[in-house]
Amino acid sequence: MKKLTARAISVLLILALVLFGTGVYTVRLFEKGNDWALYFSRLNSGSSGVLHDRNGVLLAEFSRSGSFYAEDELTRKACFHILGDYEGRTGSGLISTFTEDIKDYSIFTGTTHSQDYEFTLTLDAYLNRVAYESIGVDREGCVLVCNYKTGEVLCMVSAPSTDPLYYDPDPPSGTYINKCLGAAFVPGSVFKLVTSAAAIETVGNIWDRKFFCEGEGEIAGVKIACVDPHWTTDFRTALSNSCNYAFAQIAVTVGQDNMKRYVKEFGFTDRHELNGITTAAGNFETGYMGDPELAWAGIGQWTDLICPFSLLRYVSAIANCGTLIEPYIIDGTEPKSVQLIKQSTADTLKDMMRFNVTDHYTDERFPGLHMCGKSGTAEVGDGTNNSWFTGFLDDEEHPYAFVVLIEKGGYGLADAGAVANSVMQAAARK
Ligand SMILES: [Zn+2]
Repeated sequence: MKKLTARAISVLLILALVLFGTGVYTVRLFEKGNDWALYFSRLNSGSSGVLHDRNGVLLAEFSRSGSFYAEDELTRKACFHILGDYEGRTGSGLISTFTEDIKDYSIFTGTTHSQDYEFTLTLDAYLNRVAYESIGVDREGCVLVCNYKTGEVLCMVSAPSTDPLYYDPDPPSGTYINKCLGAAFVPGSVFKLVTSAAAIETVGNIWDRKFFCEGEGEIAGVKIACVDPHWTTDFRTALSNSCNYAFAQIAVTVGQDNMKRYVKEFGFTDRHELNGITTAAGNFETGYMGDPELAWAGIGQWTDLICPFSLLRYVSAIANCGTLIEPYIIDGTEPKSVQLIKQSTADTLKDMMRFNVTDHYTDERFPGLHMCGKSGTAEVGDGTNNSWFTGFLDDEEHPYAFVVLIEKGGYGLADAGAVANSVMQAAARK
C-alpha cells in the first residue's frame, strides 16, 4: 500500500512537471514565437533584409549572421522611431512592418518563407541626427521634414528616444511612441492657419475687417486673452501677431459648420498612411458649440488635437499651390497627389506665412532661408505648453516643409522656431 502511494505520488509529480513544462513552452511560444520564427527563417531559408537611408547609410540589416542596426549610437537613437526594432517594442516601425512580411509567420502553423528585401528610405539620417540633437536630451517632442514637390520624407525624429541595441527596462514616458505619426497634440496657434483658410473662402469682407485688442476681449461674456495687446490689426497682421481675440472673432464669423467642414476636408480628423504605418487621427468638436467654445476651437484650444503628420500634409499643400503630394518614406513609392486646398487660398496662405516672418519673426532668425512659417504656443491644461513651429522654405532648390513640436517647451517661436532653423539650415546646405 505504501509502495502504491509512493508510485502514485511519483506519477503525479511527473505529470505536474510535464504540464508545467508545456505551460512554460506555450507562454514562451506566444512571447517569443516571432523571434523563433525569424531566427529559423534566417537560419533555414536564408531570408535577409537591408534598410539604407537616401545616402546609402546602413540603418538596419538582418541575415543568417544576425540582426544589426546603424553603426553609431546617435544614428540609432535618431532613427529609432521610424525603424523600430527586431523585438517590435515600438509596434509601428518599418522593421516591424516589413519583418512581418518577411517572416510571413503564423503562430499556429509555424510557416515561414524565404525572401531577400532591400529598401532604400527617402530619409536622410544626417538630418535626423541634427534634429535629434536640436531637440536636446532633456526635451520631448518631434520633428518632421518632407520635400513638398516630391512627397519624400527627409526627416522624422521623436523624443525621448532609446538605443535599440540596449534594452532599457524603465524608459522615460513616451519613449516607444512615434510622436510624428502615432499621437495627436493640442495645436494652439498653428491651428490659425486652418481658421484662416476657412475665413478666406467663407468671409466675404475678411480683408476689410479691423480688429481691436487690448490684450484681451470677450466673446459672449467669456474672456479670451492674448499675451500682449495687439491694438488695431487687420486679417494679415492678426495672423502675424497671432492675436487670439481677433481669431476668436474670425472663428465665430466663419461659423461652426464651416469650421467643422474645413477641418474635415483638410484631413485633420482622419487617419492617414505612411507606407503601411497608420497615423493618429486628430480631434475637432463635432457637437454643438456656443460662441466662446467655437472661439477657443478656432484658435487651436478647446478639444482640438492634431497629429504632426496631418499638419505636415497641410503645410506641404500650402507650399505646393494647394496640391498635396502625399508623403512617403520608402524610395520608389508611387507618389499620390490630391488637391487639398484651393490654389488661390493656398497662395494667399503662403503670402501670409511669408509675411509672418518678415513682419514679426524676422529673417534674422532664419538666416539665408526663404522661410514661411507659423508659430504656436498651446496650453495643454496641466500648466505646460506645446511649442510649435511649422512652415516651409519658398525655395525651388530646397522645397522643404516641416513641423516641429517641443512639449513642455515654453514658446513656439523661441523654442520650436530655433529647432526648425537648425534643421532647415542643415537641409538647405545639402
Ligand atoms: Zn490680441
